[in-house]
Amino acid sequence: MTPTPTEMVSVSRIDPGIALVTIDMPGSSANVLTTEMFAQLEQTFLELAGQPDWRGAILFSAKPRIFMAGADLKAINRTLDWPAERIIEFCQDGIRVMRLLSTMPFPTCAAIHGACVGGGLELAMWCDYRVASNRQTKLGLPEVKLGLVPGWAGTVRLPRLCGLPAGLDLITSARLVNGDEAEAIGLVDAVAPADNLLEVAVAQLEMANGSASYLDRRQRLLGPVPEPGDLETYRRSYLERIAEQTEIFPFAPEIVLEHLLATADMPHDDACRAESIAMSKVYGSPASYGLLNDYFLGEHNRKHPGFVDLSVPAQPIRTVGIVGAGLMGCGIAQACVQNGLNVILMDIGDEALERAREYLQSDLVTTCQDYGPLAPCDLVIEAVVESLPVKQQVFQELQRVVSDQAVIATNTSAIPLRSMVDSIQEPSRFCGIHFCHPQIMSLIEIIRGELTSEQTMATAVAFIRSLRKMPVAVKDSPGFVVNRLLTVILDQTLRLAEQGHTIDEIDQAMRDFGFRAGPFEIMDIIGTDTCMLAGRAMWHSGIRSLTPSPVLPKMVKQGWLGRKSLNGFYRYDRIDGPRQPNPLAAQLLIEYQVGRQRIDLPEIGPSIMSAVVLEATHLLADKIVADPRDIDLCIINGLSFPPQLGGILFWAGQFGIDQINACLDRLAIDLPKRAPSKQLRQMASQDQRFY
Ligand code: NAD
Repeated sequence: MTPTPTEMVSVSRIDPGIALVTIDMPGSSANVLTTEMFAQLEQTFLELAGQPDWRGAILFSAKPRIFMAGADLKAINRTLDWPAERIIEFCQDGIRVMRLLSTMPFPTCAAIHGACVGGGLELAMWCDYRVASNRQTKLGLPEVKLGLVPGWAGTVRLPRLCGLPAGLDLITSARLVNGDEAEAIGLVDAVAPADNLLEVAVAQLEMANGSASYLDRRQRLLGPVPEPGDLETYRRSYLERIAEQTEIFPFAPEIVLEHLLATADMPHDDACRAESIAMSKVYGSPASYGLLNDYFLGEHNRKHPGFVDLSVPAQPIRTVGIVGAGLMGCGIAQACVQNGLNVILMDIGDEALERAREYLQSDLVTTCQDYGPLAPCDLVIEAVVESLPVKQQVFQELQRVVSDQAVIATNTSAIPLRSMVDSIQEPSRFCGIHFCHPQIMSLIEIIRGELTSEQTMATAVAFIRSLRKMPVAVKDSPGFVVNRLLTVILDQTLRLAEQGHTIDEIDQAMRDFGFRAGPFEIMDIIGTDTCMLAGRAMWHSGIRSLTPSPVLPKMVKQGWLGRKSLNGFYRYDRIDGPRQPNPLAAQLLIEYQVGRQRIDLPEIGPSIMSAVVLEATHLLADKIVADPRDIDLCIINGLSFPPQLGGILFWAGQFGIDQINACLDRLAIDLPKRAPSKQLRQMASQDQRFY
């Protein structure tokens, strides 16, 4: 039977008596559990159940890489304000449909190739059996990453199929497993090559029919989790593990942990009901709003990575040249070789090259001390010291050797491209590729100079994607987006200190806001000297929202450079050791106090971030970014802004633009330039959001 265009689910006969239920959402590369999908699955399952001459049914996807991607997140995002009863009903409705698979008058089997995650795995777990291919298959329940919990019996069936430890492990960590691991933990019954999957599924069903073993399985699953073990030990160890999972906001994992422990001894159906209640506690929580927005930011970036025309073909990049083998050069080289690119790394210093070779240890890397070997490079990234004359000199030397097709990029943190472009012979092939911290941050700003060509931009974006990083193409401007916003955070921090707030108060307030480190801790990591120079450079480039502070020059003069000198706003026994208070730095801040415009401690975080919102409105007004979402992508993925808040501009909308303006009005008492911009006043009066 061929599906009509609106059909998502079709049934055919593949073996005498075996129904093949093929899922194929028209016009989409993925299968998703939309309302319509549920309706069609329900109708299909009811029809199959009404025809007892079937001897088995196989659930299969026609998509080449996806079995089922899970719930319809757009629909979830639109319904986050639902009351608890409606959420419970929504979960129970899905369970009612999926349950039909486990009550058919014959055995059922999911034949899984590709992504089978979230609601997709729940659907598969309602089948009596699962067979899967190995390499391209990923199975798991990643809901906690979105601030949610599995809601269609994932928390009930996974531990009953694989045991409580496997359930706790996969659900609280959002970890995905391939076919082999799934087989090892009992999540799938057999692993087979993709082109053999249906035959193996048919054999599984024949075997089940022969022994009626599927009926025992169904019965077993209806009870509590078998041999759950010592729940208190699990609680302790998983609470620790959740706290260590810095990339996942702990709210949903903690709720799902308690739910798994509390329902381990319950019968299946009671546990399902409890799961729906657990879902109603997280659905619509502030974290679910923020984390879903973070997810949609990623989706937006895949389609619109900023000021770049993706229809323009990118140049192939096979060999990457990097000039400067310091911290950044080595980090960029590592990202390249990890993704199979050849790297030619050049530096004038013996020691830097020696350290680089030791660090990289890859056959894909060649090192050199002069420019000649860079000739075959398709792209050369300059990562020498942050000095305009040095960079200009590098460009001159470089252009003598590289082909006139090669793209030349700078990794400068803050020097505008327009100051460098005079030393570039062909400015259309020149752009910025700003790796914030290649080993830690996924975001890379691609800077478009006034004369950068579309092909150069498309090439830079494709190159960054080939490194599995997130490119955001922005226009040239001092500090671009990431460093401009960071500098405002640090600047406003120093302003609050000048008004009598202590290091501890401010750092604690920002940790309470959701950051992993406070701004004084961050200055110690970056180096007070670097912070001072970056701030000055931006001030001289015309960023007037900053105010030069006497504190940083004084710190630098004293040699208190931060972690690298074991002395900064805090003291350290070793460079990566724990921080301790530094009474001398505290005293220095008191000496430079200029007023007593102290604000209430809970307002410190929102006030500093309101100054950042104000700066973001300048970036938008100057059209440095293509979309407000790009600012949120930059701040989450380049500055570790808490993803559970959804991005600075998303947070501003949730917090209320009128509240932002109230914070700014208070900051403006001490610093008039912090007064809300016209855009912010207008947005507040019209109750608008950034997006
Ligand atoms: P670094 O001091 O660790 O390394 C710079 C390297 O450049 C040194 O090994 C030096 O020997 C080499 N070098 C200097 N002059 C050279 C020349 N003429 N030819 C070849 N090599 C030369 O500096 P870094 O932290 O790696 O920063 C490099 C660039 O990346 C700077 O523009 C910086 O602003 C930018 N950046 C740094 C960071 C960061 O966190 N460190 C983040 C983003 C961008």
